[in-house]
Amino acid sequence: MTLSFDQLDGWIWMNGDMVEWKNAKTHVLSHGLHYGGSVFEGIRIYNGQIFKLREHMERLIVSAEMIGMPLSQSCDELCIAVNETVEKNNLTDGYIRPLAWRGAEELGIGATMCSAQVMVAAWPWGKYFGAGDGITLCTSKWKKPAPDTAVTAAKTGALYVVNTMAKHEAIHNGFSDALMMDYRGYVAEISAANLFMVKDGALHTPIPDCFLNGITRLTVIDLARAAGIEVVERRIMPDELMTADEIFVTGTLAEVTPVVKIDETTFEIGDTTRQLINLYQQETGQI
Ligand code: PMP
Repeated sequence: MTLSFDQLDGWIWMNGDMVEWKNAKTHVLSHGLHYGGSVFEGIRIYNGQIFKLREHMERLIVSAEMIGMPLSQSCDELCIAVNETVEKNNLTDGYIRPLAWRGAEELGIGATMCSAQVMVAAWPWGKYFGAGDGITLCTSKWKKPAPDTAVTAAKTGALYVVNTMAKHEAIHNGFSDALMMDYRGYVAEISAANLFMVKDGALHTPIPDCFLNGITRLTVIDLARAAGIEVVERRIMPDELMTADEIFVTGTLAEVTPVVKIDETTFEIGDTTRQLINLYQQETGQI
């Protein structure tokens, strides 16, 4: 049996102090635990280089503001906290998880008295989707909500309740992950990564107006354009996706991962996907 995360060894940065992993605790009456008031980041470190640290910490700060929980730390202070955590844990390759959540000063719905608690943990984490031979997606019954229904641009824990349920549904049906549509029926993303399709040599990807505009998504768009590949951001209907030449997903954990099946339709891992996997590996210093 693998150890649960609270049983690992190492050090976690918590509200300015480096505390032993097993002692990095919060109270059960923390507001964030009850009402979903948390924001977080996922960052990778490759060969001792943290990929796009500043962009991730800026997004953490903006996400916190979006949910009405401004952080007291500056971006520089948060970047230093991440660097200290990586160093203290002797990590050169792995994953970094900063998290901020509402404290326990108040427990009604209102949280104006609540502090923002902040922590940074880091640990080794290899490929999210295994060997790289592609993932399978199952169309979920769960939809991405409208931006006036949920704080869709923030990376907030509250949004992930549905993503976790969609992921469970996919696993239960024998797939790797869930393909989610948005509230209008357009293609959105998977449970923790953005989606691209390749059609006649060009990339097409949904406009991120009700889901996370991933840092990997933006990186891949830049890499593609620099390589002379046309990139079109537009609305995509599910039927059209099924006629794609290639499909792949992008995310900090997922990196660039080919999709080989959606429901009953299969897809090849094509040259454009392979080229972007290669360019992303170069960009992140993996090769
Ligand atoms: N969408 C969701 C729901 C995610 O959880 C993630 C992972 N953070 C992404 C997209 C991709 O974002 P990024 O490339 O910034 O990791």
